[in-house]
Amino acid sequence: MISGDVKPLREWGLPFSGMFLCAGPCSAESEEQLRKTAAGLKGCKLSLFRAGVWKPRTRPGTFPGAGEMALDWLVRVREEFGFPIGAEVGTPQHVEAALRYKLDALWIGARTTPDPFAVQSIADALKGVDVPVLVKNPVSPDLDTWLGALERVHNAGVRRLGAIHRGFATSHDTRYRNAPLWRIPIELKRRLPELPLICDPSHLCGRADIVPPTAQEALDLLYDGLMVEVHHNPPEALSDAGQQLTPTQFREMLAGLIIRTEAGDGLPYETRMQKLRHTVDEIDDDLVELLARRMEIVRAMGDLKRLHQVSTLQPTRWKEILATRLAAARKLGLSEEFVSQVYQIIHEEAIQVQEEPMFRDADKREPQAEQPKGE
Ligand code: PEP
Ligand code: MN
Repeated sequence: MISGDVKPLREWGLPFSGMFLCAGPCSAESEEQLRKTAAGLKGCKLSLFRAGVWKPRTRPGTFPGAGEMALDWLVRVREEFGFPIGAEVGTPQHVEAALRYKLDALWIGARTTPDPFAVQSIADALKGVDVPVLVKNPVSPDLDTWLGALERVHNAGVRRLGAIHRGFATSHDTRYRNAPLWRIPIELKRRLPELPLICDPSHLCGRADIVPPTAQEALDLLYDGLMVEVHHNPPEALSDAGQQLTPTQFREMLAGLIIRTEAGDGLPYETRMQKLRHTVDEIDDDLVELLARRMEIVRAMGDLKRLHQVSTLQPTRWKEILATRLAAARKLGLSEEFVSQVYQIIHEEAIQVQEEPMFRDADKREPQAEQPKGE
């Protein structure tokens, strides 16, 4: 388990101006491209200049990254512009090469994080090395896998350790390339409040126009920093062309970002907020009570169904419930996506509640030891 011994970002020995700020192209394409992008970022207080050296591409035949020679280019960017440099590593060989070129930070990508063998071999290559490491969330929405990868790197002795939230692949359409599912990084933060949490709005959004509001949203959720893809000429980029900002767009975004604090500034704020919170507390009491009443009735319906040999799932009724509740929600200005998700959870729980008696019978018959989850 990761205890309170991870270092806060301001002690990482990298520039830190109120937040960890990483920018640079998706891929290192040529020395000229890196230099032009770095020149566009001159004067920005970057904690890290990023560039993908080895690219984990979805399909073969697309640009795989320039490989080790790009480390040479990165080193020259560091010398010329003074930015610390970092890249993604996916194998122990990548780690060794990155350390040879004395990269200032490394990160594990979203496609590597889910593979325990790959993460462990990277962690083994990091043993005894004091380099900052960031771990991106896995592609699928699985907090345990993210935690597991962080723990493997932590177990290797890395204390300048942080997490990057880059969104999750989900089956339903959202405005994002990767759905944020903010509840997952929020839960990570609840469990490991001291672990630095950085947002990568570029891979989250997949399109440049919504990168700035998403970056602001992350700051409003008390993230400790940002990793943003910036390319001197995004339309010509060899990977992730649609989501990269120009250096000018990046500077404009930075100028517009507001860092808000967790605590309010004095009595008028506190008084008004307490009143509003009190009302929310009362509404939540009602909500929980209503849910409990609803489930009680659902249970009685389950008994009646069993008595009459009627199936638990009633597709026509379920369709009607969803349609009428969504129509009511629409009238009240609620998001359909939200209400649909709430009802899907309620319906799933109702099915569980109605099926429960059968499991109780099974449990009585064969008491079994609890199985470990996720092995
Ligand atoms: C990247 O940062 O360029 C990258 C490949 O991101 P991810 O691992 O989040 O897909
Ligand atoms: Mn990218």
